[in-house]
Amino acid sequence: MSITARLLGSAVSHWGEDPWARGSWSLIGRHGTPQDRIALGAPAGERLRIAGEATHATRAGMTHGAYEKGAEAARWAADLGHSRVAVVGAGMAGLGAARTLAERGVQARIFEARDRIGGRTAGVDVAGSGFDLGANWLQQYDENVLARLAEQLGLTVVVTDFNDPLVLAGPPVPENLEDELRKRLAVAAPDAGIADVIDDWLRDPAPWTADEIHRLVDAEIVMDTGAPLGWLSARYGFEPGVGEGDRWIVGGYRLLTEHLAGGLDIRLHQAIERIRIEDDRVVLNDEHEADAVIVTAPLPVLAAGTIAFDPPLPPAHRDALTRLGAGRVEKVILRFDQRFWPAHGYYRVHGPERTSISEWLDATEADGTPTLVGLFAGHWLGTLWAGTDAEIAERAAEIIRRAVPGPR
Ligand SMILES: Cc1cc2nc3c(=O)[nH]c(=O)nc-3n(C[C@H](O)[C@H](O)[C@H](O)COP(=O)(O)OP(=O)(O)OC[C@H]3O[C@@H](n4cnc5c(N)ncnc54)[C@H](O)[C@@H]3O)c2cc1C
Repeated sequence: MSITARLLGSAVSHWGEDPWARGSWSLIGRHGTPQDRIALGAPAGERLRIAGEATHATRAGMTHGAYEKGAEAARWAADLGHSRVAVVGAGMAGLGAARTLAERGVQARIFEARDRIGGRTAGVDVAGSGFDLGANWLQQYDENVLARLAEQLGLTVVVTDFNDPLVLAGPPVPENLEDELRKRLAVAAPDAGIADVIDDWLRDPAPWTADEIHRLVDAEIVMDTGAPLGWLSARYGFEPGVGEGDRWIVGGYRLLTEHLAGGLDIRLHQAIERIRIEDDRVVLNDEHEADAVIVTAPLPVLAAGTIAFDPPLPPAHRDALTRLGAGRVEKVILRFDQRFWPAHGYYRVHGPERTSISEWLDATEADGTPTLVGLFAGHWLGTLWAGTDAEIAERAAEIIRRAVPGPR
């Protein structure tokens, strides 16, 4: 039976190649611990502090964690009596910092490298509707400061049950397998990688099969991290967040970021390359002066040395940058002329190769148009992400067309 559903619009993310992101979200490598996140976010003297999602010990990799750390750094600067604070980056952490500074009567100016605010939240229009190419969900909903803001603003949010995806290609992962994985990771050697634990398990997989274990790892770890399993810490690399009441925002995260940016002094197209800390001031790019600076550039951007600090960051901060890292998960938004997939809300598709995993959010009912948001990690990033965005979108569409059983 031929597949007739046609693509009417699409959008494709490129977080891995983006010089202001260099990956999707921060992770703990095999030589790291959550203490590295705390070390990175500790004040470096009285005029410099790094904030951003990577510095949150329990809410890393998430927008509300980023916002909280930005706000915390702002309170630190205000408590020290600084009256002019520069903020590098207009993502959630930078917006949280600048708003909190403004509330405390401190003059805040944000310097943002891109031509837009939002950072790794990125609204995009596809065939007339707003979607997210970056963060999609308000995670840990009950204790999420941005969820409270979404409620105040009266935004429409939709629940996703990550614990109950409809598995479109192949059998679902058996129950209890995730518990077994978590048990094995918890007792791994302190500097073991997740690959070490999986290799060990695969030597004696009974009562499960090797294939079931691979599928579990693809679904739970490859999809959630987008990182090489040999690098990712066995003990700490599988951090909390997903599956704790997640809801996505109809119309996208920009409904939040645009509100948060209201009234703030934000300078776009202002990439900060040099930060000099002097006895009585900080100077950015030899040009902009402030009493203190809060830096929210993503961890891999800092690790790449994009910003030269004078004096250099303290050793504990530099060490943390080497033990943390980032994975790569990319998204494709596909608007079709008709819905050909079953109504469920969230889908998982295992491809033919190891780590060829994708998951799909159905936005059809909330948006009123047949739209899927696909998340891709592992093997697919090497094979799908080539050529034009239209070609990538068409290849992604083919994966979901093939995965849906029955005639269309
Ligand atoms: C595909 C994808 C899906 C995600 N899904 C979710 C989700 O569903 N829920 C969730 O909670 N989180 C999700 N996340 C993670 C979330 O987007 C991030 O954790 C969060 O947005 C990070 O905020 P931040 O302020 O720390 O960093 P960013 O948002 O990256 O902001 C940093 C800002 O600094 C700017 N910058 C960098 N270098 C410089 C420089 N030298 N000078 C000036 N400006 C600079 C950048 O342009 C950027 O705007 C997802 C991320 C991705 C990529």
